[in-house]
Amino acid sequence: MEIYKKSITELSDLLNKKTISSVEMTNYFLERIKTHDSKLNSFITINDRFALKKAAEADKKISNNEHHLLTGIPIAHKDLFSTKNILTTCGSKMLKNYKPPFDATVVKKLDDIGMVNIGKTNMDEFAMGSSNESSYFGVVKNPWNLDKVPGGSSGGSAAAVAACLSPVATGSDTGGSIRQPASFCGLTGLKPTYSSVSRYGMIAYASSLDQGGPIGKSAEDCAILYNEINGYDPNDSTSNHEQKIEKIKLNFTKENASKIRIGIPLEYFSKNLDQSISDEIFKSIDVFKKLGFKIKEISLPNHNFTIPAYYIIASAEASSNLSRYDGVKFGYRCKDPKNLEELYFKTRKEGFGKEVKKRVMIGAYALSSGYYDEYYIRALKIRRIIRDSFLAAFKDVDFIFAPTSPTTAFNIGEKTSNAVDMYLSDIYTTPVNLAGLPALSIPVGYSNNLPVGLQIIGNYFSESGILNIAHFYQKNTEWHLKVPKEFDNE
Ligand code: GLN
Repeated sequence: MEIYKKSITELSDLLNKKTISSVEMTNYFLERIKTHDSKLNSFITINDRFALKKAAEADKKISNNEHHLLTGIPIAHKDLFSTKNILTTCGSKMLKNYKPPFDATVVKKLDDIGMVNIGKTNMDEFAMGSSNESSYFGVVKNPWNLDKVPGGSSGGSAAAVAACLSPVATGSDTGGSIRQPASFCGLTGLKPTYSSVSRYGMIAYASSLDQGGPIGKSAEDCAILYNEINGYDPNDSTSNHEQKIEKIKLNFTKENASKIRIGIPLEYFSKNLDQSISDEIFKSIDVFKKLGFKIKEISLPNHNFTIPAYYIIASAEASSNLSRYDGVKFGYRCKDPKNLEELYFKTRKEGFGKEVKKRVMIGAYALSSGYYDEYYIRALKIRRIIRDSFLAAFKDVDFIFAPTSPTTAFNIGEKTSNAVDMYLSDIYTTPVNLAGLPALSIPVGYSNNLPVGLQIIGNYFSESGILNIAHFYQKNTEWHLKVPKEFDNE
């Protein structure tokens, strides 16, 4: 039946027709994890016991006709979403034994409609990274080529979905962590408008940038999940309560396409970008033209300042957010400290990895008196300029197409000793977070047998347009249906 390849709608159909029960479906994916994950390391926790219980409940709901499209469908959550009584490590030794007393809003919403949480996925420690090499639980491998990274920080979620160990997964995106791994693994990943998805229960990295969202095989799967996880949450003080978000319907036609103007920012196709990626993206742009979209060149100036501004702001917020890990409240505590100061010092020295310590130090430095104006305030000014240049572009076009990443998946270890090179992998994704805009990455081709991603960026709350454009493209192409050879078997 090739269940592993199926979309959410197809899986739901099988459940409805009782071709398969949710318990059987859950067991099927758990078996796939058991068979394949030793090659990938995409899961930190496999949730078999809870999952099968939840699946049995879902089967009851389905029998009683009290179900939702997502009832009984397995999902994996990035290990920074708090899950009640289930280990939530954030990829860190600091939280290696932490079982939260509550569920994150995203988890709760999906749980309430009967989705089955099959496990928690590996990630860069505290979501800091672009390659999933900074996890305390080890490196994750890319299912398309096991010598390559899956991208980060939601690398475990992306590898798990690409290898069809879970039909869909959640991720979080502070500077690209949903889109870049989706691009490296040939998947579709949505970073929603800042504030549209609750951050309650998502372990914080940089609160003004963090946003949760779905990673799936297609725009359709992402739309189905996004419809359920967005919405106002009184537990998140930055949650959107002004804009009403309608349920997205994917019903785009050629007629709609002909009314849409797409901008191609020339600055994003400079020498930083691999030629082969540029070629694949322009081939896909030709397909979009044939589908009726109006394409035009635009300019997005100042984007070269993005990386320094992003790393100052993200690190500043991280240094503040991570001050809560002190060995007192929860998480790791060092052994036998002589006094309170030593408790803080040793706990943080032993509990955090190298990348996290680096960010905390950069952030504390940028916020310290004397440097605050020079670094932090300047970075905020750049943030405003970047946002303004997007908004100026949206006066002229409806959506923007850009590469997701300047390269395809790189070798494991290739960039670990060169931080600047690693940070540059986010050059096309971080501007979107600084501006708080929504963006989606979709697979549009291959370079050296590795997937290439195209980013569709829209104005605030334009997820419906973004997902419709992507869905229309995916109805006419097959890139999103490809499965890496090694995992393409029942
Ligand atoms: N790679 C970026 C960073 O390390 C983005 C990570 C993310 O989006 N969580 O900060």
